[in-house]
Amino acid sequence: MRFHQAAGTALLLAAQCAWAGDVIHLKARTVRPAPGAAAVTGVSRRAHFIVQFPSYPGPEIRQELQRRGVRVLGYVPDNGLMISADAGVRLEGLDLAWSGNLEAADKLSPLLSEPAPAYLVVFHSDIGMEAARALAARHGFTIVENPSLLPGQLVAAGSPTRLEDLAAEDEVSYILPASADLVAGATLMACGGAATEAGQIGEYATVGRGWAKDAAGEVTLRYLFESLTSKLDANTAQGEIERAFREWTRYAEVGFTPGGSAQSVRTIAVGFGRRAHGDSYPFDGPGGVLAHTFYPAPPNAEPIAGDMHFDDDENWKAGADTDLFTVALHEAGHALGLGHSDRPGSVMYPYYRFASGLTADDIAAIRSLYGAAAPADPGVPPAKPPADPAGPPDPPAPPVPPAPPSQPPARADKVAPSLRILSPRFTIVSTSSPSLTISGTAADNVGVAAVKWSVSTGAAGNAAGTGSWSAEVPLLVGTNVVTIRASDQAGNSGWRAITVVRR
Ligand code: ZN
Ligand code: CA
Repeated sequence: MRFHQAAGTALLLAAQCAWAGDVIHLKARTVRPAPGAAAVTGVSRRAHFIVQFPSYPGPEIRQELQRRGVRVLGYVPDNGLMISADAGVRLEGLDLAWSGNLEAADKLSPLLSEPAPAYLVVFHSDIGMEAARALAARHGFTIVENPSLLPGQLVAAGSPTRLEDLAAEDEVSYILPASADLVAGATLMACGGAATEAGQIGEYATVGRGWAKDAAGEVTLRYLFESLTSKLDANTAQGEIERAFREWTRYAEVGFTPGGSAQSVRTIAVGFGRRAHGDSYPFDGPGGVLAHTFYPAPPNAEPIAGDMHFDDDENWKAGADTDLFTVALHEAGHALGLGHSDRPGSVMYPYYRFASGLTADDIAAIRSLYGAAAPADPGVPPAKPPADPAGPPDPPAPPVPPAPPSQPPARADKVAPSLRILSPRFTIVSTSSPSLTISGTAADNVGVAAVKWSVSTGAAGNAAGTGSWSAEVPLLVGTNVVTIRASDQAGNSGWRAITVVRR
């Protein structure tokens, strides 16, 4: 994210004292503000750009920007705001840590390296649709109509060689592959993006690290229903939303448990509302936006972090459109800290249709935040045991009661060991090294007998240690899926897998 230094630059620059703090998280790359980076002092013609502050930009900063004639369009992690400023706007004295504009490459989805039938072009939210259509046409693109498109978004078909010039236009915010459903004109569910109190996070940015682990090393969120919809009976509405929560816990090390109050931390308050309903994002009546969700803390403050709001002007149904489970599944992804995926067909793509579960893309995304869930008995949906993060630490596991006399006595112990990978910290890692040391812990109600590792390339062996274990795993160039399995004397086992790409 350099400044355009050529003649005709929109931004007036001044030297800035060194402050190298939080990075700017874009999908295309991570920007590390360099010490001594220039800061914007003023604007010579209308421009969209990011201003970053040394800490979270609260309401007083946003009001001061507005007082100077700046439009605040959204939040950019960490501590940045996407703004739109007209010629003549001055920005001195704002204590900016850093500022800069999105380059064309920052606005092109990494997935555009693959062929796409057409492109979803997202414009900055202060750009009118007439101007947006004219701009796309001027660059040689044909506009594909779809009734589900949200304001500020177009489906455009044309040559991929023209994308970079379109992306270089100041009005364009991001370009990603259009799904086949969008191109076919299908009616889809649309999400305008999840919210922070400082504005929505644009499609060009990634969101953050999700919820931090609690003192017990877990992420278990509480949830409660503040209001429900009159379109469905209460049990059905609650059951469909809880089923959506459970779908995420099948794949990643996160849990949901009912309880708490709307004011408590790490609690998802679920509500249905119409039009203005108490936050800064009023709903839009039937159609259009169906729901919105506030991201975790950070970037949001408690208690609004994680809260999910559904538009009660929609005709909510269970098993048909507008399907509550499908929308809750997408929104729960935001509540867990996921932004939108650029992958057409995934649940977290901004336009989606009736879903029965998560896709591989969604599963990889949630595992990148929380790690893979240890599977329970096959065929049984793994529900996490209820845990109250505010309560006392969990007591030790109770002794397993003897099997009733009518049951065969074999395998009285049916509790599988639990397993954690502590290093590396991510479920997908990349290295140029010929081996990788993986370490972690394992625990069991009776005792861990062995921890073994195996690689998709064929190698396998025993880890050193059991309760605390480590293994040096050989890697071939390319993708190596490493599975670690902990077993007890009764033959129960729990496993985790990580993907290691050797360059
Ligand atoms: Zn969304
Ligand atoms: Ca609506």
